Amino acid sequence: MDPERERIQADLKGLLAGEVLCDDVSVQMYATDASIYQIRPLGVVRPRGVSDVVACVEYAAKNNIPLHARGAGTGLAGESLGRGLVIDFSHSMRRIIAADGDTVRVQPGVVLAQLNRYLAKSGRLFGPDPATRSVTTMGSVLALDASGSHWPVYGSARQHVVSMQVVLADGQVIEAGKHPVDSPPGDGPDSTAAAPPPPRAQTLVRGLADLIGPREKLIAQHQPKTRVQRSGYCLSGVLENGHFDLARLLVGSEGTLALITEATVRTVPQPKFRGVVLLFFDRLEAAAQGALEVSAFGASACDLMDRRLLTIAREIDVRYDLLIPRQAEAMLLVEQDGDDAQELQDRQQKLIVRLQRRKRLAFDHRVTMEQEERDLYWRLTRRVIPTLYRLKGSSRPLPFVEDVAVPPEQLPEFLVRLQNVLQTHAVTASLFAHAGHGQLHVRPFLDMSNDDDVRRMQQVADAMYQEVLDVGGTISGEHGDGLSRTWFVRRQFGPLYDVLREVKNIFDPKDIFNPGKVVASDPQPLTDNMRSVSASSNGAGGAAKSDVEAKTPTETTEAPPEIFEPLLVWNPESMGYMARSCNGCGRCRTLSPDERMCPIFRIAPAEEASPRAKANLMRAILTGQLDPAQLTQDALKEVADLCVNCHQCRLECPAGVDIPKLMIECKAQYVATNGLRPSDMLLARLDGVSALASNFRTLANWSLGNRQMRWLLQATLGIAQGRKLPRLAPTSFLRSAQRRRLTRPARRSGQKVLYFADTYANYFDVQLAECFVAVLEHNGVSVYVPPTSPQSGMAMISLGAVERAKRVAARNIALLADAVRQGYTIVATEPAAALCLKHEYLNLLDDEDARLVAENTSEACTYLWKMHQSGKLQLDLKPINSSLGYHLPCHVRALGVGAPGERLLRLIPGLNVQRVERGCSGMAGTYGLKRENYRSSLRAGWGLISALRDPTIHVGTTECSTCKMQMEQGTTKPTIHPIKVLALAYGLMPEVASLLTARGHDLVVT
Ligand SMILES: Cc1cc2nc3c(=O)[nH]c(=O)nc-3n(C[C@H](O)[C@H](O)[C@H](O)COP(=O)(O)OP(=O)(O)OC[C@H]3O[C@@H](n4cnc5c(N)ncnc54)[C@H](O)[C@@H]3O)c2cc1C
Ligand code: SF4
Ligand code: SF4
Repeated sequence: MDPERERIQADLKGLLAGEVLCDDVSVQMYATDASIYQIRPLGVVRPRGVSDVVACVEYAAKNNIPLHARGAGTGLAGESLGRGLVIDFSHSMRRIIAADGDTVRVQPGVVLAQLNRYLAKSGRLFGPDPATRSVTTMGSVLALDASGSHWPVYGSARQHVVSMQVVLADGQVIEAGKHPVDSPPGDGPDSTAAAPPPPRAQTLVRGLADLIGPREKLIAQHQPKTRVQRSGYCLSGVLENGHFDLARLLVGSEGTLALITEATVRTVPQPKFRGVVLLFFDRLEAAAQGALEVSAFGASACDLMDRRLLTIAREIDVRYDLLIPRQAEAMLLVEQDGDDAQELQDRQQKLIVRLQRRKRLAFDHRVTMEQEERDLYWRLTRRVIPTLYRLKGSSRPLPFVEDVAVPPEQLPEFLVRLQNVLQTHAVTASLFAHAGHGQLHVRPFLDMSNDDDVRRMQQVADAMYQEVLDVGGTISGEHGDGLSRTWFVRRQFGPLYDVLREVKNIFDPKDIFNPGKVVASDPQPLTDNMRSVSASSNGAGGAAKSDVEAKTPTETTEAPPEIFEPLLVWNPESMGYMARSCNGCGRCRTLSPDERMCPIFRIAPAEEASPRAKANLMRAILTGQLDPAQLTQDALKEVADLCVNCHQCRLECPAGVDIPKLMIECKAQYVATNGLRPSDMLLARLDGVSALASNFRTLANWSLGNRQMRWLLQATLGIAQGRKLPRLAPTSFLRSAQRRRLTRPARRSGQKVLYFADTYANYFDVQLAECFVAVLEHNGVSVYVPPTSPQSGMAMISLGAVERAKRVAARNIALLADAVRQGYTIVATEPAAALCLKHEYLNLLDDEDARLVAENTSEACTYLWKMHQSGKLQLDLKPINSSLGYHLPCHVRALGVGAPGERLLRLIPGLNVQRVERGCSGMAGTYGLKRENYRSSLRAGWGLISALRDPTIHVGTTECSTCKMQMEQGTTKPTIHPIKVLALAYGLMPEVASLLTARGHDLVVT
């Protein structure tokens, strides 16, 4: 840390209760958002409350340090980036304070979707719906005046604000609402226009009224003719009938005028019925014409997607392939809502008749009022755009002219102008539009590391913005000016620009708040401060930095000649490419219960816990922004340790960024230099430790159930004292397999399985291994168990002990590849082991045999389910009268096989299987075993644990051994592997019946 940062950190720590982070790793995480820019701040402040914000503002004002408010950091124009101190409101100011009738009071860090989940309980919602609502914070929604597809019915945030508590540039706190211009000083906010404003607010109101009052004509003359408008400050409608609406002006000011510390916003009732119509067109212009017709049918949303987006949608999901006709050049998604289902249905039909039969604009349609189908249709628009980043190649759909809006009636003509601009500059682009209100999201495909493309960015922006102005449009309808549009604001507003500057001057004469955004004496050119994207010439491959990067003053000077030698298998340039694929969209910050995204971020929603932070840090190292020596230092390792290799982000990230692989590389670099910590050493050697302990089974099992011994285990090896652990079996599975001659290769012809009985099945749950063998044999499958004790090495991989894991993998691959060549399929009952063989080993070993094994490995339930699908599974299953709660483990999910365990269970007559979908169990492999993670692991798994307490569920069931530990943690109910239940139903293992009624113990699992 440089001395300036050190001093600031020390100063601020003395002034604030919240966190202050000025180290290199932290500031790097806050150097980017979802825009094309990157600026490393001086530091990051995470205020706990308004007094922290005040202290920070006073300090910044005294020391002339800029302040950049930040929510989720998903701005597309670099609105929250800057060289000063970033104030992260999303971390500790996330409380819903009170809801009262049709209003709700929130702190700025409350996530919009979280607010709507809360309001839904009383049948209400906050209407404006930016596509990022699952992560965006209310502070940002107000600071950007956010809106989304439902603008026609809800408008933007501005229409819903009542008042806001804000901290001004001199540190004073006011409640900004609607204030009488000429009142004597009072002491309260006045959203009802009755009470007089406080002195500071009054000074502001007076100054602003004097500025704006005489210029009403100028203001009216220079407004765009669009329905949506987000560029500049909102000067129209703020001064009316002797009242000044400070809140209205502050909404949309991008953190440049004041910092929002609380806000009261209006809520609306949820619509009773909602219906969606998809209309398909064979020409883009026809879709634009169609959009003009839609408003007559009471549309609450009308979105347009172009052919490129439709093609991607078809590719990413087979359901869209079936839904979207191949000849569609464009699609309109129209939502209508109402209180009467029949009336709504009639309106949907009228719309279809009008566009398809009468006007002959659309050639096909789909229509629904069902929630599931509606959600599927809506996901089309919400998921596909970030998915554009999955496209291969260096060109990316860049957001730099992504927010233009035009008067809706000009849309058909503007689309022609837009295509001309793109053609002139030989650029292709994707187009998504809220066509009903004239909002266009255009993303040209360009390569930020190519000088010609960077020059074209400026040319395209110039030309396109000119076309926008020519039709009375605005350069920003939703996202704001930020770094990418402030340079054009003067042209957008002409003589009104000076008034905007004066507004800024009245609020913030020292230019402390988010300088360089909206108005600026010297706005940055469009292509300054762009993110570095080129990997340096290192083992991971990559080109040198571009001129543009060299031009950016902070970040890129010279590419280090050699960054580091990768320890995992990466194709040339693939590591840099992978890290670069993260576009910062922030989806991985979601806390939504409908998604599995990062369990660790859910436990502690801080930027460093997000998958995005990890991609950003690796990209910074690969592009020379961050000293590669960080790879061997604790600060970066601590962030890497916040990844537990659950693979959920890899599945759900729209850009498909393989964060777990990047983090294993990162941990491996650290471990290669520093070795493993003692507690990690134990977990990495679990197989050897289990083998040793099994020689002293009685003593070991007694210790596991004894509180004092468990305290000792925690104190010495870091295994949480309260965590229920499995007992060692009387004899290992390998021994009994040897006795039963399973360790001799099968002689019979037909299906052959090599059973990869990992550490858990071998030493702890031998009954599971026996059940699996019995089920296979019952179904005519020959079983071979290798005579050496197999371990997959998953714990080593997750901990970064990659060299050791490579040795284990090499041994396993040599054995297993031979078996595959002899016709065996490798099958594991432990999902983590299957994932290791199918996925992780390919990251460790670059050889054909590893690929052969990966292709011929299956998880046990998946293997049996496939047998069932091909009609080979015996169905002589006896009824079981019980009710099971099934949890799908992350590692089964990561295998991309659906839920075969659950499906198998559903074949058993009499058995009631309930899916408990509460996300990750919170164990995350060995994460939940550690003392330091015990509580947070329980917090993460609490949804699952509590669901299992439901009296209608008698027993838990899951394939994963560590999820089982968690599922038994807060309940006495047992959790059983589906294969055991299957063996019981076949009548092969009657002793399993007693498990269904077994009661768990304090410290050990059943
Ligand atoms: C894929 C994608 C789709 C998007 N779709 C939409 C859309 O449909 N509609 C839309 O409007 N936007 C959209 N956006 C843009 C952006 O995500 C949203 O505007 C979002 O509301 C930004 O929220 P955030 O919390 O990430 O804000 P940040 O990026 O963190 O901050 C945004 C601005 O708010 C200011 N700010 C934050 N908190 C405060 C505070 N407490 N006080 C003062 N200022 C504050 C910041 O200084 C900054 O200027 C999209 C972005 C992406 C990546
Ligand atoms: S990791 Fe994926 S989901 Fe997260 S910000 Fe990056 S692109 Fe978005
Ligand atoms: S692999 Fe899991 S823990 Fe790691 S970043 Fe992704 S979602 Fe989070």
